[in-house]
Amino acid sequence: MPPSRKGASAKRKSTKERKPKRKSCSMCAEKLTALDYKDTLRLRRFITERGKIVPRRISGNCAKHQRWLTDAVKRARVIALLPFTAE
Ligand SMILES: [Zn+2]
Repeated sequence: MPPSRKGASAKRKSTKERKPKRKSCSMCAEKLTALDYKDTLRLRRFITERGKIVPRRISGNCAKHQRWLTDAVKRARVIALLPFTAE
């Protein structure tokens, strides 16, 4: 019988004080009035290498602009400007 590895999962870093740095929404900063789904250069900044949309907690987008972003990315995918997945 192999030795049990009980301790592995119990290990946890104690981060007592974690200050979440307030990321500012880049689209708010630019005062965008609309997000163009054909603007793949901008959209690509918000998708991962695998083609996934970067979550808000990482990208720092505000809720409104994250919604814009998901709509734009999904639209761009349909007309093959962005990948659904990376191969
Ligand atoms: Zn915003």
